[in-house]
Amino acid sequence: MADQLPVIRGMHDILPADMPAWYRLEDEYRMLVESYGYRQIRTPIIEKTALFARSIGVVTDIVEKEMYSFDDRNGDSLSLRPENTASVVRAGLQAGLLHDQQQRLWYCGPMFRHERPQKGRYRQFHQLGAETFGISGADIEAELILLAARFWKRLGLDEIDLQINSLGSSQCRQRYRGLLVEYFRDHHSELDEDSRRRLESNPLRILDSKNSDMQTLIEAAPAMRDSLDAESRDHFSELTDILDQTGVSYQVNQRLVRGLDYYCHTVFEWVTETLGAQGTVCGGGRYDGLVEQLGGKPNFAAGFSMGSERLISMLIDQQLAPAEADCDVYLLMRGTGSVARSQQLAESIRDRMPRLKLVVHAGAGSFKSQMRKADKSGAQVAIILGESEMAAGTVTLKFLRQQRQQAEVPQAEIVTRLAALLE
Ligand code: ATP
Ligand code: MG
Repeated sequence: MADQLPVIRGMHDILPADMPAWYRLEDEYRMLVESYGYRQIRTPIIEKTALFARSIGVVTDIVEKEMYSFDDRNGDSLSLRPENTASVVRAGLQAGLLHDQQQRLWYCGPMFRHERPQKGRYRQFHQLGAETFGISGADIEAELILLAARFWKRLGLDEIDLQINSLGSSQCRQRYRGLLVEYFRDHHSELDEDSRRRLESNPLRILDSKNSDMQTLIEAAPAMRDSLDAESRDHFSELTDILDQTGVSYQVNQRLVRGLDYYCHTVFEWVTETLGAQGTVCGGGRYDGLVEQLGGKPNFAAGFSMGSERLISMLIDQQLAPAEADCDVYLLMRGTGSVARSQQLAESIRDRMPRLKLVVHAGAGSFKSQMRKADKSGAQVAIILGESEMAAGTVTLKFLRQQRQQAEVPQAEIVTRLAALLE
């Protein structure tokens, strides 16, 4: 026998038993974002590597060490998308969606990062996201936060907390960056290797370091808050005002910077303690510089992205994704029952009951083995079509989960009977 080939490390199959949770998450998300006026966009999972290098930034974990990049047959460097924002901007520019107009867009789909696999961290994972363009105020940031808050509520997840911070306008950010570089240079010997590398290229990222040896140094670093100009402070207090008035609780976290280069003003994360180390389920903020960085006219942009696998884990742990039956009715044949007649009957039922989960027995077999399959299918009712039924224009209904006499009913009445039985 040939060897079986296993799935690639860090990637996983989503099996039928997992689907109730996935449907719950994705259906709920789609209904929710569409109710806020967001429209879906789907982009290819492969893009030019340059798109991500230019948007995410060369000195980020993602571009430095997490991308799946390869040369295609023409010698172009391509990458599997590690996130969707850059692609959405590229697509939006290409289709003329970002010019002189507001956009509210959403997406969902797989992303790829070559990270060390662990619980809540995979090499192929899925994100649900939203991106807005052309809107400069804190109002849209608040909308994105309210939308996420409502999502948790609809899903029944209540242990997710909001952290927010402001990076200020790009000028303040520049100034703050200078202060940070100066501070960390003075403490060069205390920096770890990653931080030394980031010092010149992306010093804000040092604040984000997970290295516990660095925490005292980071605590004592200049605070971002002190570098904000009046306009940036106003922007941020407009956001916190809206959150206060709409009853969203939050914590201001001065160390929250987000990994990517293009953020300004508001950044936020939704974090839970219920998942262990990988507790961030959603991250987002404002990224006004990005559209221009990707070749468009300067434009306002804000959005977020959620990790589906982490939310799915929460739904499953908290039993918030009840399995639906895979089959309501199982149709089988007795004796020399006719396969064609049973398919014909099934099709006529499907014409009238489009949502019914009706499985028609396939693969022949004795009556006994067909009944075993009917039972295993989870169906409430078996429809039996035998020679005598065919002659009489009837079927036999057998109740698989109830103590109840089987009944022979005219074929013309099946739909009414099934509807009454299954409602
Ligand atoms: P982390 O700090 O956990 O690495 P991140 O800042 O790299 O997260 P983002 O790029 O902001 O993550 O992606 C948004 C969300 O996508 C994260 O909050 C997380 O829920 C999810 N996510 C990111 N990377 C992974 C991964 N490798 N596996 C599963 N989910 C992920
Ligand atoms: Mg990461």
